Amino acid sequence: ATRPGRTPRETATHCPYCALQCGMLLREEAGRVTVLPRQFPTNRGGLCQKGWTAAELLDHPDRLTTPLVRDPASGELRPATWSTAMARIVSGLRAVQAGHGRDAVAVFGGGGLTNEKAYALGRFARVALGTRHIDYNGRFCMSSAAAAGLRAFGVDRGLPFPLADLGRADTLLLVGANPAETMPPLVRWLTEQRQRGGRLIVVDPRATATARQADLHLQPLPGTDLAVANALLHIALTEGWVDRAYVAERTDGFDAVRRTVAGWWPARAEQLSGVPVADLEATARALGTAERAIILTARGAEQHAKGVDTVTAFVNLALALGLPGRPGSGYGCLTGQGNGQGGREHGQKADQLPGYRRIDDPAARTHVAEVWGVPPDTLPGPGVPAYQLLDALGTPGGPRALLVFGSNPVVSAPRAARIERRLRDLDLLVVADLLLSETAALADVVLPAAQWAEEDGTMTNLEGRVLRRRALRPPPPGVRTDLAILADLTARLRPTPDPRRTDEPADGETADGETADPRRVFAELRRASAGGVADYAGITWERIDAADGVFWPCPTVDGPDSPRLFADRFPTPDGRARFHPVEHRPAAEEVSSDYPLHFTTGRVLAQYQSGTQTRRVAALRRAAPDAFVELHPDLAARLGVADGEPVRVVSRRGELRAPARLSPTIRPDTVFAPFHWGGPARANSVTNDAVDPISGMPEFKICAVRVEKA
Ligand code: SF4
Repeated sequence: ATRPGRTPRETATHCPYCALQCGMLLREEAGRVTVLPRQFPTNRGGLCQKGWTAAELLDHPDRLTTPLVRDPASGELRPATWSTAMARIVSGLRAVQAGHGRDAVAVFGGGGLTNEKAYALGRFARVALGTRHIDYNGRFCMSSAAAAGLRAFGVDRGLPFPLADLGRADTLLLVGANPAETMPPLVRWLTEQRQRGGRLIVVDPRATATARQADLHLQPLPGTDLAVANALLHIALTEGWVDRAYVAERTDGFDAVRRTVAGWWPARAEQLSGVPVADLEATARALGTAERAIILTARGAEQHAKGVDTVTAFVNLALALGLPGRPGSGYGCLTGQGNGQGGREHGQKADQLPGYRRIDDPAARTHVAEVWGVPPDTLPGPGVPAYQLLDALGTPGGPRALLVFGSNPVVSAPRAARIERRLRDLDLLVVADLLLSETAALADVVLPAAQWAEEDGTMTNLEGRVLRRRALRPPPPGVRTDLAILADLTARLRPTPDPRRTDEPADGETADGETADPRRVFAELRRASAGGVADYAGITWERIDAADGVFWPCPTVDGPDSPRLFADRFPTPDGRARFHPVEHRPAAEEVSSDYPLHFTTGRVLAQYQSGTQTRRVAALRRAAPDAFVELHPDLAARLGVADGEPVRVVSRRGELRAPARLSPTIRPDTVFAPFHWGGPARANSVTNDAVDPISGMPEFKICAVRVEKA
């Protein structure tokens, strides 16, 4: 625990970055903060280089320490007081809503925000602003798996079992996942799994660091994973590996799926995907004959305009083999962002209220409105998914003001140049961030926000395990927590502000009762989530402190939490899981003579998300200084491109420029670029903005391009 006033000061907390939420110890001595390893069930003392270097940003010279307000005369961002900045925001929001209605203001959140912030942001949008327009960057992360899980199992929890189960699986199938680069400490579970005699099979168009460790690597054409899954189920049916008793007792809808996959004989899947029939058969056998088998998907399978159906195809396979609910078996999704799981449970999604409730459910509206102390009919209805929201900004009838917390859509949104134009067209753009991101650089007002080591809160990791982030020290002078910003804005937006309100509220409570205390926000979140799918009612900070986190659902303080789901029933009305027949369909944009190559995006080990933070960390910058375009040597030879030579990747929407990196690990018909950089190397200048009709997930993982020498 934090011991204020003592030297050295130590805090047991978690990494600020990805969904593994590795445990770490922060020590402050003589003003210098260092990261030390800490035993925690997900990382068991391991950290990747991003975690080891996370403290560097606490005292980074680029850090924002004062609000910035754009000067109308010069057009420059200038330092301002909090009073000036907040007054500018409030007057701007009021003017926009007076002229264009409440929905003319929108809020955009992030999957890195704590549960308390995600909750407070949803309440702020629906109550203080009264707008239906709120969504977040998690829509770009694992929304397809969330939607697929919800419709099959009645619940969306990334892993419905503890991570340790990976080490016990006899067969582990990873689809579009590269944990060796995205979550290195997780690889120890994979190593243990193979040391126990288990088989690791990876499906990925690139021979990634993870795929190179696998016993079998299937390298399909991007966008054909769904056909691969249907072919695997076809083989399992033919060979008699389907668990018919499980299907009969615990599921509905298998007959329709059986009819669909009957047409996916392996040779047809090979023709479409390029995966040899022998490899499909070996994979189906490894899954179908294993005592314990786990199927995991990640962004490679999910970030498609058919992402929900692709994940559903693998969920169908898992259900047909009787895996979900069996020890050491099941289907799961590897969440990406630090609070990708919790971030989508507490109401910062366009269609949701806290507790993973639907915003159009009358009972949910009544329950949450009561917690919020407002009449249910004053709550707005559902908004629109993230890309649709961003693409409507500044257009006739679309929102004219946007508040962004913990996100950088100028780099992370698909078809990013268009989104950048939309942001420039706004009457008011407000960004709260710790650094001047590419999005913050466009803002009218920038608010300096506290970092992870400067505030308390909870996160929910990829296992559905709720954890405590603990503050090591308070924010520096001039910097506020997001909760303090929201509390202050809420107070100022009241029709008749309390005259006792101060301009400079502390992090506890504003003079007129708006709380910025994360512990009190969490207490309210628990009440709001009670009875919902993601029920936190029984989770207290003390209970988290006494154990290695608490798994939701956890409805009572004295009752058990839920490390494993689905043992006896699924949380559907009748307790049964649902099959859904799904068919392959082409990518939204196919290759042509002008754009003859497939383009796909992803991550590198030393960078994270839009790179706002990690590009500023010296060791990470040394490890991964620049973007690159990965090309197969055969393709490079055809194009006359040498290793390191600058190239342009051109799509129908834009281009990126970066040096070529030749690698035999990628298919010759596919090129890859990481998405961590802005400017000319921005991968999302090229990506397609077609979205999944169910989840709203953009098709980041495939579009058509040509490559030219720059
Ligand atoms: Fe942080 Fe993720 Fe690396 Fe762990 S794996 S240290 S949580 S970035």
